[in-house]
Formats: sequence, structure tokens, C-alpha cells
Amino acid sequence: MTLKYISFLKFIKKAIKLVALQSKFFVMRKLQMVDLKSQYEKIKEEVNASIQEVLDTNTYINGPLVHQFQADLENYLGVKHVIPCANGTDALQIAMMSLDLKPGDEVITADFTFAATVEVIALLQLTPVLVDVDMSNMNISIEAIKKAITPKTKAIVPVHLFGRAANMDAIMEIAKAHNLYVIEDNAQAIGADYTSKDGSKKKVGTIGHVGATSFFPSKNLGCYGDGGAIFTNDDALAHTLRGIVNHGMYERYHHDVVGVNSRLDSIQAGVLKAKLPHLDTYNKARQEAAMKYSTALGKNPNLWVPTICEACDCHVFHQYVFRVLNGKRDALLEHLQSKGIPCAIYYPIPLHSQKAYLDARYKEEDFPVTNLLVKEVIALPMHTELDDEQIKFITDSVLEFV
Ligand SMILES: *Cc1c(COP(=O)(O)O)cnc(C)c1O
Repeated sequence: MTLKYISFLKFIKKAIKLVALQSKFFVMRKLQMVDLKSQYEKIKEEVNASIQEVLDTNTYINGPLVHQFQADLENYLGVKHVIPCANGTDALQIAMMSLDLKPGDEVITADFTFAATVEVIALLQLTPVLVDVDMSNMNISIEAIKKAITPKTKAIVPVHLFGRAANMDAIMEIAKAHNLYVIEDNAQAIGADYTSKDGSKKKVGTIGHVGATSFFPSKNLGCYGDGGAIFTNDDALAHTLRGIVNHGMYERYHHDVVGVNSRLDSIQAGVLKAKLPHLDTYNKARQEAAMKYSTALGKNPNLWVPTICEACDCHVFHQYVFRVLNGKRDALLEHLQSKGIPCAIYYPIPLHSQKAYLDARYKEEDFPVTNLLVKEVIALPMHTELDDEQIKFITDSVLEFV
């Protein structure tokens, strides 16, 4: 290649870049299911400073930032103890390990959720009992819980699905009546508030005996890797949990119980410490985007959209999931994808139909809602950086099809 040719190529490359940059001002920002890059651009300095602090102080594991983030999160949630750990699945597992549960004990959870919840129950040789969900909020059905209770039932694991609080008043009532533990899977609803019948307000995840969350990057409070945490107001339980995450050690090299190694590393804690002050703003942005989606889509008789009550903050829209009632869900998915709109099905298969969790006790007629939801639900892009132009393009594209 001649030098001239190479410089010509360089010129062309530069020109293309310039055109691409210019067109940013005329063309809608690229649609993404989750836009972490645009979010990072706005908090770059705080996040970078946090990460730099870890690098400068060489405190990669158990560093001061882990403890600072833990204290900040306790304060934010209004909970006595936050125990950071490596991811949300670990958080659920460790929460269950900390309770007085034995192999064969039955643990009731929702059929319509991500598999992590049921996976840890099975891993600990507890018996998962999957139950149907409620059509109104897609969360665990109170009637179904009542029907599933046996003398072997020891715990209930409600999942605050898609960011919406489960019916905690009713769940806590049942738990009290039957002496059961409640472990909240709060991986999708951090920051949501739950208002009890008596008017008191609590952060979701701090109502049951123990709560578990995930800081997976796409969650409402996400780090830039893996992370998780366990919450409890019970001092003795917190002590037990702190030992379990650290190889069952309560005193150095004394292993009192079988534990695991599950740590939130300092760099992730730094990212989270920088992002936590923005969580309420982020959740508000999600709620506003959801409101715009629901306003535009809600009038169409072929669609069911999540209701949004302006007065309460019980839904922080980890996902915006609506239902297509005329049998055209899969066709809509294809239509949207063909227009460059990312969308997804959460979740396409009920857990009770998954090979790993088949159980002769389950009957199809016990899961009418889940069996319907898996055929009707579809999720639209949902994150903190959606603008009106993007939302209008998405909702117009849905409406022109249904
Ligand atoms: C993400 C998620 C988990 C697992 O969290 P990880 O950090 O990915 O292990 C558990 N339960 C639910 C409902 C989730 O959405």
C-alpha cells in the first residue's frame, strides 16, 4: 500500500466518524433495553473518584468503601443491618442458610419469576413449592399461598416482581399465623416503598425476617460487575449472616458453621456508594417513563398495562411489562424488533414446567395465571435515560400493530 492510499483511508474513516457524530443531533438516540452508558456519562466523576480511591489505597477486599456503602444503604433503607455479598443469588442462599431450615422443609415461592429464587431452595435440599401469581400485580397469590401450606411449610419467599411490592401485609399475617419465615427477594425492587394497612411506610426488602437483593448492572441499583446484599432488623440473625458469608467464621480460623465465601468487592462498593444517592432520582425516572408508556398504551382494548398510582411508590419499574390480550404477542415482538426496538419476554416458561423443577404434585389447573402470563407478557425498554422522543416512537410502533 502506498502512503497516499493509507492517508486516503484515514481521511475516509475520519469523514465517516464526523458524519456519524453530526447525525447524532438529528437521529434519535439508539434504543436499548438498558442504557447504562448514558447513565454513567452523567456520574462519571463520582464513580471514577470512588474507583480511584480503591486503587490508591490498595483496599480491594473488605476496604473502607464496603463499610461506608453498607452504612449508607442501612441508612437509606431504614434497616438495622445490611450484609453485603457477591451477588443476588448468593444473598438468597445465605439468607436461607441463616434460618433454622432443614432438608425436606417446604418453602413456598412464586411460579412466575426468575429461576434464582427456586434454585437456591432446591440447592439447600429444601422442597420448593411453586404457587400461582395474582393477575392484578403479577406477584405471588395470597390465596395460592394459603392453599399450599402444609405442616412441613417453613418459609415463604415473595418476589417483588418487576419492581412492584408484593402484598406484604397479607404475607406477614399468614406467616405469623403459621409460624413461617418470610424471605423477600428484592432483587428487582430496591427503593420501592410499601405502605401497610395501618399507614406505616417501609422500604421493600426490610419487612420480612430477611431480605435479599442484587446489584447486577441492570438492576435499579446496579454496580459494574456482580454484587448483592442481605437485609435484616434482627441482631442475632445479622450476626449469623456475617459469619456465613465469611466461611462460617466468627473468630479468625474458628469455623462454627458451614459457610460460603461471598464478598462484595471494594471497587463494586465504590460504584454503589457513588450511585446510591441517585437511586430515588433513577426510580422516579423509571416511574415517569412507565407513566408515559401506560398513558399511551392504556386506551387500547387489546392491551393491559400496569396501573400506576401517583400517590404511592410501591412500584419502581425494574421492567415495564404489559400484556397483549389478542394473541398477537409473539407477532408484536417481531414487529418491534424489526423496527430496531429491543424488547423481551419475562418470563417465557413457568418455573413449574422447567425440567429441573418438575414435581408430580403440580397440576396445570393450579397455575392458570402464570400459564396465561407467559403467553401474553412483553417488556419494553426500561431505564433511567429514556426520552420523550424514544417513548413516542416505541408506543406508536406498538399501537400501529395492535
Ligand atoms: C437478578 C435476580 C436474582 C439474582 O441476582 P444475581 O445478582 O444475578 O445473582 C434473583 N432474583 C430475582 C427476582 C432477580 O431478578
